[in-house]
Amino acid sequence: MAGTTHETAHETASAFFPQLIDGRTVGAATNRTLDSHDPSTGRVWATIPQGGAEDVDAAVTAARRALPGWRARSAAERAAALRRAGEAMAAHAERLAALESRDCGRLLAEVSQGDVPACVQMWHYFAGAADKVQGDTIDVAPASFAFTRREAVGVVAVIIPWNAPLSLFTAKVAAALAAGNTVVAKPAEQAACSVLALGEVLADVLPPGVLNIVSGLGEEVGDALARHPGVARITFTGSTATARHISAAAAGTLTQLAFELGGKSPNIVFADADLDQAAAGVSTMALFTGNAGQTCIAGSRILVEEPVYEEMLARIEKAAGDVVLGAPDDPAATMGPIVSAEQLERVRSYIDLGQAEGAELVFGGRSGAALFPEGSPLAGGYYVEPTLFAGVTGDMRICREEIFGPVGVILPFRDDDEALALANDSDYGLAAGVWTSDLARAHRFVRDLEVGTVWVNAYRRLHWAVPFGGVKDSGYGRDSGVESVLENTALKSAWIQLD
Ligand code: ADP
Repeated sequence: MAGTTHETAHETASAFFPQLIDGRTVGAATNRTLDSHDPSTGRVWATIPQGGAEDVDAAVTAARRALPGWRARSAAERAAALRRAGEAMAAHAERLAALESRDCGRLLAEVSQGDVPACVQMWHYFAGAADKVQGDTIDVAPASFAFTRREAVGVVAVIIPWNAPLSLFTAKVAAALAAGNTVVAKPAEQAACSVLALGEVLADVLPPGVLNIVSGLGEEVGDALARHPGVARITFTGSTATARHISAAAAGTLTQLAFELGGKSPNIVFADADLDQAAAGVSTMALFTGNAGQTCIAGSRILVEEPVYEEMLARIEKAAGDVVLGAPDDPAATMGPIVSAEQLERVRSYIDLGQAEGAELVFGGRSGAALFPEGSPLAGGYYVEPTLFAGVTGDMRICREEIFGPVGVILPFRDDDEALALANDSDYGLAAGVWTSDLARAHRFVRDLEVGTVWVNAYRRLHWAVPFGGVKDSGYGRDSGVESVLENTALKSAWIQLD
């Protein structure tokens, strides 16, 4: 792991990004604001409205008012509006990518070449799905005929975290709008700027009230959305702990819920795998460089078959050593900082915990000033180096809990049964990777792993056409794919008596 000396040009003036309520870009009803910190320097670079219950109420009221008109449009008209949203996003792609990179500390190349072009495609994909929302006909008896209709559920609340704001926002919002719903979205307080900026872009593209965006704290804005009787459905991505709060808050109104939550995903390497491919797949692709490990699908439990354990350990250490930490807009950097000071503390506390639990620190472990002292161009940034623990047992908290940083554990296994038992010994069930050249084994693991997504000889592949979500404590409900549109509908059955 090495640092770069690239200097980033930092804005001095603080930018302000407004909310979108009823087609208007506005501050918070109370005029309160929150600071947004640049994770590569720790300095405030922007402010956002600190919305509250009043803003949520205005947004939900606007969304309810817009609902009949939006729902009554033909699917083709709604599709046309979604396509225009995609075109508008494409026209502002460069700025949106730069904002998200700045706000989250994600590498600019990753956001500008990955997320933003994918978002543009998502608007077009969900536009294409809008006129494929259809029911069935059911012949119950000669004179009794039934059919189903898929109707909009109403106002959908979209609550997202800070790790991939534009992608998560677009996948959820476009699916909900395609099905004829209206939306109130809440980005995370740590990284709301790119979503608020997209809101400004879409203000003139979508009819007023069809899409509303309220920013602020989870316990204020998120909680108010979860309790609001005008919200029919909540689609949430974030932590399992927050999902429990939302579930409790939404119980009073029996609001429909979809949760895409945390993970502690196993990445299983068999001795018959292509080890070059597997080494990249378990280290850089899964854990270290991709968003600095801050993804729910981080392959943070590396399981390796005994005969190749030492070999893989050496390869992973080499891959980690090649990681270049640097500012998000530095083209030489392969890994950026952690999103916030709070998250940096959390990652550090897990590194300390791993050592206290008796695990062996194989490499890494340094962060912040220990990596980049005063005077270094990266001083003050929330950086953590790639870190790996061995000598881990399945009951250790570093082996069970989601860390959300570039920190992994590695465990050896003897055979398929032990690999499967270790892999499934988790409260989470989001994703898993399997590296093998044995086709039958690959299929057995696809079947037997208790997760929502399995990658075979690949990792961290996501696509808007492929449903994504978890089982167990990783949640329920699916983003992406036609299924995500159908989940945003209520199924109505109609009976017609023919005699
Ligand atoms: P993370 O731990 O990854 O930051 P969170 O689950 O805390 O994820 O946050 C994800 C989203 O949930 C954010 O938009 C956050 O503001 C929101 N949130 C946090 N607490 C609550 C809550 N009590 N009710 C509703 N939303 C919340």
